[in-house]
This record gives sequence, C-alpha cells and structure tokens, in this order.
Amino acid sequence: MKINIQNLVRKNILNLKPYSSARDEFEGGNGIFLDANENPFGELNRYPDPHQKKIKEKLSIINRISTENIFLGNGSDEVIDLAFRIFCEPGIDKVLTFSPTYGMYEVSANINNIELINLDLNADFQIDLKTLKPYLNDENLKIIFICSPNNPTGNSIKNIEYILENFRGIVFIDEAYIDFSPEESYRNQIKKYPNLIVSQTFSKAWGMACVRVGIAYASEEIINFYNKVKPPYNISQLNQNAVLEVLNDENIKIVSENIKLILKEKKLLIQNLKQLKLVQKIYPTDANFILIEVENADEIYQKLVEENVIVRNRNNVIKNCLRITVGSPEENLKLIKTLKSIS
Ligand SMILES: *Cc1c(COP(=O)(O)O)cnc(C)c1O
Repeated sequence: MKINIQNLVRKNILNLKPYSSARDEFEGGNGIFLDANENPFGELNRYPDPHQKKIKEKLSIINRISTENIFLGNGSDEVIDLAFRIFCEPGIDKVLTFSPTYGMYEVSANINNIELINLDLNADFQIDLKTLKPYLNDENLKIIFICSPNNPTGNSIKNIEYILENFRGIVFIDEAYIDFSPEESYRNQIKKYPNLIVSQTFSKAWGMACVRVGIAYASEEIINFYNKVKPPYNISQLNQNAVLEVLNDENIKIVSENIKLILKEKKLLIQNLKQLKLVQKIYPTDANFILIEVENADEIYQKLVEENVIVRNRNNVIKNCLRITVGSPEENLKLIKTLKSIS
C-alpha cells in the first residue's frame, strides 16, 4: 500500500517556516553566549537544548532506533496534541478512537475542532474489524488512535496489524503501559510502516510522571513535522536532566526491578481481590492497573474514599467498574483490608 505522508499533512504546516531559535543558529558549546538575551547570572539562566540530543542519543542506544526516529514531548499529551495540529484540518478532518479508552484523544480532538468517530470495543474490549472497515477509506479520516495496553481496561489490543496494512492515514499507537506488558512494542515496526506513530512515556513504568516527558517513535518524515510544529523549548532543562539521570545504567536497573515488583504485587492483588465477595469480575490486564466490576461502584468508591483509599471510579465509562492502580505492598494491603471491612 502506497502511503504519502505529505498528502496527509495540513497545507499550512507543509508551508510553515518554523521558528529558528538562537540555539538552532549556533550549536557550538564553547564561547561567550550573547545571542539569546539570556541573563549572564545564575544557574538556570540558559535556555534548554531544544532538541534534547542527549536523551535521544541514550534512547537510540537503549532501543536500537536512530535519533532521527525519536521525538520528545512535554508528556505524551503533547505528542497527541501535535498529531492533531500536524495532520488534521479543523472543521474538516476526522479521527477515530475505540472506546472505552484514554480520554485525551477526545479532549484533543475537541480542542482542535476535529470530529471524533468513536467505535465501541467489543465485550472482550477488542476492536470489531467489521464495524471499522467502512471507515478505512474515508479520505478525511486522518488518525486512528489505538491504546495498547488499553486504559482503562488494561488489555492489549489485537488486530493492529490489519489496520496498519489497510489504512492510509496515521496509525497512532499509545504504548504508555508497554513496559508492564509481555507484548512487544510496535516501535520496532516504524521502518515497515511510514504512517505509524508509537507513543511512550516516562510517566508510568519509569516513575517520572512529575517531569512530563513523552516519546514518539516514527518515520523520519513524521518526526521532522513534529520538530517543525513543536514549541521551540518544549522540555525544560530540569526535566531533561531528570530523564538523563534515570537513563543511567544503575537507575535503569532500579526501574526494571521496580517493574518486576509491581507485576508481582499485581498478581498478589488479583489473588486477593478474587477472594472478595464484592468483586464480581476482574478483567485481564497487561498494565500496572486492574479493572474490576463490583455490585455498586459509586458506593464502594465512596466508602474507600472515607477510609482514605482513592481508586478511580469508572462507573460512568464501564458500568460498575473501578480502576485500581497497583501500589506499594503496604498500599495494596491497606486496599484489601479496607475492601474486606466494607463487605
Ligand atoms: C498515563 C497515560 C499517558 C501518559 O501521558 P503523559 O502526558 O506522558 O504523562 C498516555 N497515554 C495513556 C493511555 C495513559 O494512560
């Protein structure tokens, strides 16, 4: 299938002359810098690296992906929003999501005045290809968002291959939870599919939600458009330094130990939840959270809040469901104890 990325990009973005910062025009490290109207005094007085080169070099080595295939955003939320601004003409173009899923796709669509086609996942929270098929040839459908493992359901999504083989627009796979999952990342498929964007984040498995750094892996052509449209200094140097710190060998080891511990705790938590009468269903999960169905989610949510245990009430999204993030061993024990005392 022939894919032309330029044809998918908005005309104003194709023609856009991007902002050129002082750091774009002189990239050397030595000299006295009188070119950016920075203050000569202090420690936080300089603008950050606009292209986050050091982080990209680290990620490139760790994931065996060229730096040209990596974009860093102010959280994945920026990676999502920029996709709209690059590809979707307000008032004309459309995007497609499968619900229930992460709420930001819809919010970003609304902010950018883009129509959202929302198809329901089936009873197993999988994509129903038959309902999807008629949409695949819509010229104005620019992006299909797939969240896998999916939030808030926790399961990995199947049949993504089919969509990649049969859709000419952008396939955006949100892999915020991939580091908890036994499934392989689609980031290794960007060479095969020039229209694929895989987003990941430092917010979950890496334990860095506070620093707001998300990643997009995609063809060089797509990454170039991201770089053209992004705010020049989209990631602060403090945040870049925090990410560089977590990417050193010692800290990578700690992160991977923590992931193992979270997965072990998840297993234990599921065993304990199974014993509880008020838990009617536990959905399969490849992420660091568990979706459970209870008899009266609003009531149980409220009772947990009264005991200072805060879970996510998803009753308005999936009837009588609560989403529980796997916490520390002590936190998980407290949750189970509290649930026992409720029932
Ligand atoms: C938590 C989450 C993110 C993370 O967003 P950031 O802006 O990187 O913190 C992205 N996608 C999904 C589906 C999430 O649940």
